[in-house]
Amino acid sequence: MKLHTFRIGGVHPDDHKLTAEIPTKKAELPKKAIFPLSQHIGAPAKPVVKRGDKVKVGTLIAEAGGFVSAPIFSSVSGTVEKIDNVIDATGYLKPAIIVNVDGDEWEESIDRSDKLETVESHPELTPEEIISRVKNAGVTGMGGAGFPTFIKLTPPPTTKAECVIINGVECEPYITADYRLMLEHTDEIIQGLYLLMKAVKVEKGYIGIEDNKPKAIEIFEQKTAGDPRIEIVPLKKKYPQGGEKQLVDAVINRQVPAPPAIPVNVGAIVQNVGTAFAVYQAVMKNKPLFERYTTVTGLQVKNPGNFLVRMGTTFGQLIDYCGGLPEGDNKVLAGGPMMGKSVASLDVPVCKGTNSITVLTGADAHRKKVQNCIRCGKCVSACPMGLEPYLLATLSAAQEWERLESEDVTSCISCGSCQFTCPAHRPLLDNITFGKGHVMGIIKARIAKAKAEAAKAKA
Ligand code: SF4
Ligand code: SF4
Repeated sequence: MKLHTFRIGGVHPDDHKLTAEIPTKKAELPKKAIFPLSQHIGAPAKPVVKRGDKVKVGTLIAEAGGFVSAPIFSSVSGTVEKIDNVIDATGYLKPAIIVNVDGDEWEESIDRSDKLETVESHPELTPEEIISRVKNAGVTGMGGAGFPTFIKLTPPPTTKAECVIINGVECEPYITADYRLMLEHTDEIIQGLYLLMKAVKVEKGYIGIEDNKPKAIEIFEQKTAGDPRIEIVPLKKKYPQGGEKQLVDAVINRQVPAPPAIPVNVGAIVQNVGTAFAVYQAVMKNKPLFERYTTVTGLQVKNPGNFLVRMGTTFGQLIDYCGGLPEGDNKVLAGGPMMGKSVASLDVPVCKGTNSITVLTGADAHRKKVQNCIRCGKCVSACPMGLEPYLLATLSAAQEWERLESEDVTSCISCGSCQFTCPAHRPLLDNITFGKGHVMGIIKARIAKAKAEAAKAKA
């Protein structure tokens, strides 16, 4: 089997895929469901319900709050208790709709049958219709970043999509939600890929899967054999292969230029396997996005597993179901150990982008003592974006914003490979993330000012 991979940098953290062979279970319904209005990149959604309103599973509770935004649907049936500020996975208080759960009554418009619908048998589905259903169902990227999917399916007119690449990499240690989804819903993911290809009018689709998931590679190869439009691309395991730019490089050997370029600038539309599944459900089953596959894991977690979770369920409820928090020091992450964020409270709810709840204990939960940089260059070799992390971190700490921008800090994908590999345990990612945020703010303000001046000159 020929294995592909991306060309620059990358690291090899321990896999710890403890839950890979554990079939997915349905998580218990929460007693109270919490729906933050900011679950995606872009403007927060706007509530369309108020205290006392009755909702069902699949009822629209918040509409898109702008062009880059997505609606939110209830994952439970019950009564809206209140709209209040809650701590979400970012650690900030954000407005959320809170629903007291009462039974499990679904909107009748949702097709709950297991019957597989194929794109072939639905010729009425035009690209516009597919995109509209995806938009109206609140589908966002399920791999973590949470970009509204319909926007990716309507790329700028200056670009031309040539292929869809499905991201089945799941290179973060511990997480196995996508892997289980690939094994348990292979047909639906393939139909999701066909829908995506039809939506962006391309005739080529790829599914990239790392070689630590041979069963997933095999089942997709079997099920797509005979269709020359689909290619399964086995990838050599290396982190962060699931990054969009790294995946495009690995699968079609094209390099996405620095921001603001995106994969479609080199012809690729990249979607996660979870997103392909959500697209299938939205378009073929009229099912909005209100539940997802999530892994609950950690070396000391008694009963780790993969769960189909109704969004709004708290981390605490899922951890309790898996045997509770281990004794001693713990760090609970939304996501995996490389890119996940430590949460401030177990009352944080599962949202559209929550692919994993990872519990780190003992030494893994502690930062090691920071030492002076020994100029070994390991962070530079590890960086998949060809950056100089030691320099970016130093410039960020010194608040040298202009220089930081000229050193391409906005290309950083926050993968953490530099920090992972640093023998001096320097907080490279923390510093770079701080600096990148500041530089992005400066760039946004500059663009806004230029637009305002242009408008003034025109007037
Ligand atoms: S976090 Fe940024 S600087 Fe560090 S290795 Fe990843 S892309 Fe490079
Ligand atoms: S890996 Fe750490 S010690 Fe080595 S050059 Fe980079 S920052 Fe310095």
